Amino acid sequence: MSYSRFYNRMPDGTTKQLNPFTGTEVWSVPGRGNKPITNDIPETAKKIECHEPEDYCSFCENRYFETPPEKQRLVILNGEYKKLNYITAEEYAETKAELRRVPNLFEIVSLDYWRKNYNYKINRDKMEWKNKYISTPKGLEHIISIVDTKLKLSGKKHGEIEKISIDEKISYADSFFGGGHELVVSKHHFIKNAEYDSDLKSSGEMTPEEHFRYIDFTIDAKEDIFLSNRYVRYVSVFQNWLRPAGASFDHLHKQLVALDEWGNTIADQTEMIRKDPNVFNTYGANLAGMLNLIIAENDYAIAYAGIGHRYPTIEIFSKSKNSRPSTHTDEEVRGMSDLIHAIHAASGNQISCNEEWYYTPVDSIYKMPWHLLLKWRINVPAGFEGGTKIYINPISPIDLRDKVVPRLYKLRDERLIANIRIAEECRIIPNPLKYYLT
Ligand SMILES: [Zn+2]
Repeated sequence: MSYSRFYNRMPDGTTKQLNPFTGTEVWSVPGRGNKPITNDIPETAKKIECHEPEDYCSFCENRYFETPPEKQRLVILNGEYKKLNYITAEEYAETKAELRRVPNLFEIVSLDYWRKNYNYKINRDKMEWKNKYISTPKGLEHIISIVDTKLKLSGKKHGEIEKISIDEKISYADSFFGGGHELVVSKHHFIKNAEYDSDLKSSGEMTPEEHFRYIDFTIDAKEDIFLSNRYVRYVSVFQNWLRPAGASFDHLHKQLVALDEWGNTIADQTEMIRKDPNVFNTYGANLAGMLNLIIAENDYAIAYAGIGHRYPTIEIFSKSKNSRPSTHTDEEVRGMSDLIHAIHAASGNQISCNEEWYYTPVDSIYKMPWHLLLKWRINVPAGFEGGTKIYINPISPIDLRDKVVPRLYKLRDERLIANIRIAEECRIIPNPLKYYLT
């Protein structure tokens, strides 16, 4: 196999790359990405006044009623984690949510999309939840207030909103109970003892245990979305961290969007798997190993600097033979989570970042390994890229590895991340991903 087709470091230091899976052509030109990762307070940061409970945005603890009704909540009761489903509005204040699963106020794919295109009907479970929720005074008040907010944000005038009957508003609320765009919202806005508005609680600021719960809770949400709508063929899972990465809130959250198709990326890559079941080893982990791009691993997952991405990208793959997150064992999910957490922690909370999930679609008979791409949104593609379709990524894969690895050693020494193998400690064996096995 000719590796130079995908990766070619020229004498001046320019690294030309071709993404083996997408065909994206990327150059990393020396001298453009020398800034080290830092967790120093940025010059633009402003001092904050700490509030307990937090009330900085609509996702904060003191503002539970600013999101649509909660589908699920993770709590700690007597030292044990417990998931509470469909609590009533009256019960919101009885426990403190470690994580909340709530509908998105404005869905990317709306409830009407499913209703009008597929004759989708909200299942009994979710309708019962709706009826139970609006049967209490606080629940009804919450629903009307959220519908009013949504109408206002959609440009309706106060007088127009007043004229809409309660029954009509209750019918508008169907999307909160039976829609397919949801959020998993993390507990804290800021880290403990935050002083500046940049002291945000990112994925990497969690403990490994908190992060495992976050991933596990998100997998449960994804499964429930499948089970609630039989027309769903894929659930897109992603996390936008900070505004340059597309986040509308600085409060950590993941998003899940139900789709009736796989999308081009998954479809193209499934075609590659059909032709060569081992393609994710050959052009993924094996290639990364030959080029010394492996950053870290444990027994369940492996992380390496990705080739041919428009943004500096770290790819994290599950080694499991199970190819969907929901079929992973708890140990396997924890292993993935530990590595994802470690890379987020090494990136720090000031780098805008997209986390994208990929896995075998529900109706695919070709297995794709569960994997995530963490993309640092630190550069903006410009006119040069538009005209040439050659993208400039300011950090080459080797430089990306060299920025992340020392941070990982330090974090591991400080016991802020789980015990993972880093860089040269990794056992680089051929075909580490076992998804192709039955
Ligand atoms: Zn908040």
